[in-house]
Amino acid sequence: MSKITMKTPLVEMDGDEMTRVIWKMIKEQLIEPYVELKTEYYDLGLEKRNETDDRITVESAEATKKYGVAVKCATITPNAARMDEYKLKQMWKSPNGTIRAILDGTVFRKPIIVKGITPFIPTWTKPITIARHAYGDIYKNTELKVPEGAKAEIVVTDRYGNETRALIHDFSGSAGIVQGVHNLDRSIASFARSCFEFALSEHESIWFASKDTISKTYDHRFKDIFAEIFESEYKAKFDEAGIEYFYTLIDDAVARIIRSEGGVIWACKNYDGDVMSDMVATAYGSLGLMTSVLISPDGVYEYEAAHGTVQRHYYKWLKGEKTSTNPVATIFAWSGALRKRGELDDIPALCDYADKLEKATVGTIESGIMTGDMAALSKLENKRSVYTEEFLGAIAERLKNL
Ligand code: NAP
Ligand code: MG
Repeated sequence: MSKITMKTPLVEMDGDEMTRVIWKMIKEQLIEPYVELKTEYYDLGLEKRNETDDRITVESAEATKKYGVAVKCATITPNAARMDEYKLKQMWKSPNGTIRAILDGTVFRKPIIVKGITPFIPTWTKPITIARHAYGDIYKNTELKVPEGAKAEIVVTDRYGNETRALIHDFSGSAGIVQGVHNLDRSIASFARSCFEFALSEHESIWFASKDTISKTYDHRFKDIFAEIFESEYKAKFDEAGIEYFYTLIDDAVARIIRSEGGVIWACKNYDGDVMSDMVATAYGSLGLMTSVLISPDGVYEYEAAHGTVQRHYYKWLKGEKTSTNPVATIFAWSGALRKRGELDDIPALCDYADKLEKATVGTIESGIMTGDMAALSKLENKRSVYTEEFLGAIAERLKNL
């Protein structure tokens, strides 16, 4: 059997610790036997980032912009402990943050659904994808404590020095607190475009919700920007794809989501997305079954697993012990990226291979063979918890038969 050939290279971002170990296994056992892999390789492992003063991260993001699709392994975001462990020159920033800033992208988290692992909300039979606007609001706030008797105002000074003032509160009765937040039309517009692009790519409807009834200027601006961009740039494409965009109040969105069967993308403001993504991820079960895609407003895609480098397992592995680390989200990062590459380059065989890789993975779990984290959740009677190598071996076997 001849291997599937690729046209444009896929940007490959390698990473750290246990996920780096699994990365290599996935390539060797599940991909390279079938695909003549053409990747532009960037080593985002912490050592290489330190060696290159983190230029490698920037270069990998630039390459993603150039080629359009990347697949990324989980990476360490350094903290004080990592400074010593890796003898770092500097506490390098989170690669995900750097890449997101360069691509101006939005992160979409989507769970993988398998039989036997039922979400805490049993009606959620299809995935719910959360999109979080990752700019501004309380994450870039200015806060002050206010003494009793003081008066707090918002002042906006325009470029000519003219001031516009509005009273926040007269604190004559009690001391208190104030907070100033902002957002940018440009950032909201990028967020909206990324959301609409992703909905088209996934063939799923998208909701956006805020609190515009209370926040008549701030949240309302989000609602208006989404509506304007949808009407002028996406409505026709959505009609053609048979999907919809709809706006509702955040309270209503929460009520609807709980009653829904899933199968939607839910776009959230920064804080809502922070909270709701944790809630939805927990409800679906395992971190090892959560994928993550970063999409820029002009349709550049970077696929990864939502979890980290699984450090605790890595230290066991270093001591020569076997671990039962879940590779599923990382496999789906690869299948997602290869399918997207296949779509963009018109290589149906590559899309077909990506489908089969996912089918073999899900089929293996549904046959009862899975890693420990999944076995702890699965309701299958014949389930068996296995080491990562055995699990990958079982997927490889199944893939061969497809
Ligand atoms: P983590 O790597 O996601 O692991 C947290 C715990 O969740 C693990 O100890 C493990 O629990 C469980 N877990 C996560 N993924 C799993 C998998 N695939 N299979 C089995 N169990 C899994 O998060 P962390 O320990 O907070 O962070 C470790 C490193 O990852 C940090 O350096 C952090 O900066 C980095 N990180 C990177 C990304 C990214 O690149 N996108 C995201 C998050 C964190 P048990 O130990 O109980 O088995
Ligand atoms: Mg959170």
